[in-house]
Amino acid sequence: MDSEIPQLHVFFFPFMAHGHMIPTVDMAKLFGTRGVKTSIITTPANAPLLSKTIQRCNDLGIEMDLKIIKFPYVEAGLPEGCENVDSFTNSDKSKSLEMIIKFFKATAMLQEPLEQLLRECRPDFLVADMFFPWATDSAAKFGIPRLVFHGTGFFSLCTTVCLAMYEPHKQVSSESEPFVVPGLPGDIKLTRNQLPELMKSNDETDFTKMMKVSKEAELKSFGVVVNSFYELEPAYANYYRDVLGRRAWHVGPVSLCNRNFEDKASRGKQASIDENECMKWLNSKKPNSVIYICFGSIANFNSDQLMEIAMGLEASGKDFIWVVRKDKKDEDENEDWLPEGFEKRIDGKGLIIRGWAPQMLILEHESVGGMVTHCGWNSILEGVTAGVPMVTWPVAAEQFYNEKLVTEVLKIGVSVGVQQWVLLVGGFVKRDAIEKAVNKVMVGDRAGEMRSRTKALGEMARRAIEKEGSSYSDLNSLVEELSLSRDSSKQTM
Ligand code: UDP
Repeated sequence: MDSEIPQLHVFFFPFMAHGHMIPTVDMAKLFGTRGVKTSIITTPANAPLLSKTIQRCNDLGIEMDLKIIKFPYVEAGLPEGCENVDSFTNSDKSKSLEMIIKFFKATAMLQEPLEQLLRECRPDFLVADMFFPWATDSAAKFGIPRLVFHGTGFFSLCTTVCLAMYEPHKQVSSESEPFVVPGLPGDIKLTRNQLPELMKSNDETDFTKMMKVSKEAELKSFGVVVNSFYELEPAYANYYRDVLGRRAWHVGPVSLCNRNFEDKASRGKQASIDENECMKWLNSKKPNSVIYICFGSIANFNSDQLMEIAMGLEASGKDFIWVVRKDKKDEDENEDWLPEGFEKRIDGKGLIIRGWAPQMLILEHESVGGMVTHCGWNSILEGVTAGVPMVTWPVAAEQFYNEKLVTEVLKIGVSVGVQQWVLLVGGFVKRDAIEKAVNKVMVGDRAGEMRSRTKALGEMARRAIEKEGSSYSDLNSLVEELSLSRDSSKQTM
């Protein structure tokens, strides 16, 4: 730790979804290694997900604590305990949509309790999620500068800004006609089908209003903290800063702050499989022989698609670990999403994890040679860090942009071929396409090349966070800048 820097107190306020909470806590931990005191703001039902990690940080001498604010689920019409996106994103799309609207309504009501907390504790800085656009103004009321955390990388941040600025999707005549994203380095083509619904809509909804405010809040904020590393996407890091004029610091991959088995095992939720059993299973496999299939913490599929995935995996002939978000209890014990006799046939060859997998541990195991991913940014970074090439199967959010980075810019993956952005519940891909894509990343010369490229990037990722590395240095610069800014604002008081 650097004792020359006077201690700062930074509050982190992640959006209540695992893809936002996990990297935010990792980031807070990294700030802690620079002598910064950190507090994580969350709600009662989310607190148990964080308390063990915080305890372990404290044991290592990192000053971190939890600040709990009440979640207004009653006022928003949500069921008790429904405080995390993963508590309502099931395969029933209409129900999920209704819940997500209520959930965003509830998060907007967190402004008052946040302000109450800031008034009482007066931290030096607030790092708040992009989904809390009002946080910039809230923090400003107490003279506290706010940093924004988007949870994604430079490539998709730039894509989002360029699309909003130039609106190329408004010049095409059909949903499937490709257009180039103007300004964005690399001649990147997308279609309207691949864009988030709200980008295309001319109607003003609560969500589109929120995204507009979020954009303005970012420009008024102290800057943006990005979970990425320079060497992964240098053209886009430069473009974001130098051309789009954003103040941004890259500090990732933040997952690499988890060095031991216990830390890696306990990211997010309690795993639905004993981690040691899972490692034992992987230990029995040859290097690079297993494909890992997981669609993150939100995306879901209906039974027909799960059945197709099962058959595609079986046809690929590869050993696999497949994470299925459907719990046994959701399906009232009737697993109509598995082909008949499937589990017997794949006994020893495939492992199905129903619920939550210890993803970081699995990806880092030498027997894992590829992954099928929905292109959530954390999963991509974790795959890169572990040197694992990818089959890309984007579903929603900015995942179609991330797919372009993986398949066309970095050339470390192949697309399964989905063309259509869908909210929460993935579109349909046939078993043959799954089988083919899995084989493309697992066997043959092209797979070998993709694996070498991914492994080289993984090495760069590790160097980036070590002393003198790009992310290490950028985090130091950020902490220094925060200290200077705090000290100069104290002097002018
Ligand atoms: N994750 C995990 N086990 C699971 C599912 C997800 O550990 O069974 C973790 C994964 O390692 C990543 C995060 O949850 O850190 C998911 O974030 P991502 O951006 O990939 O997707 P999202 O869930 O936001 O769609």
